[in-house]
Amino acid sequence: MKVVVPDEYKYLYVTDEDRPVVKIPNDVLLAKAEPIERVTKRHLTIAENMMRIMRSARGIGLAANQIGVLERIIIVQAENRTVVIFNPVITESSGTQVGEEGCLSIPGMYGDVERAANVTVDGLDRKGRESTWDMEGIAARVVQHEIDHLNGVLFTEKVDPATVYWQHPSEKPERAE
Ligand code: ZN
Repeated sequence: MKVVVPDEYKYLYVTDEDRPVVKIPNDVLLAKAEPIERVTKRHLTIAENMMRIMRSARGIGLAANQIGVLERIIIVQAENRTVVIFNPVITESSGTQVGEEGCLSIPGMYGDVERAANVTVDGLDRKGRESTWDMEGIAARVVQHEIDHLNGVLFTEKVDPATVYWQHPSEKPERAE
């Protein structure tokens, strides 16, 4: 669906030092991120920055596009641990879940999205080793949301328009991706 940002939320759509997450309609959010060849110090620094930015924005996931980097790096907050995955690929998925999503690149907008209930993700970990992550529930939802970002896809393409509403992010618990 096409997003029309209500006037009272427009001030949240700046990108600056205090709010470093890139917002719509920046084209970097519609671009496809490139795979990385191997995990280098530079990639680890990007991942550290992403973690810091995600936490200060009170998010539970972040994709590199959202800080203007077109490389396939995502962060997923999975219960009490934070997972960094380079070149994530969903190799298996099962079931469906419908739940609310928000996006740090579209602050204030929330709505229901149908996702797979369980996913298996292959990728590289922080040490550059090939690894596999099994995720369910919210973590599965977030990882699907973040991989979509790497492909230039926003949740607004998948949200059920009948469920969309706007609320100030400060009034929400940590939920946005
Ligand atoms: Zn997002």
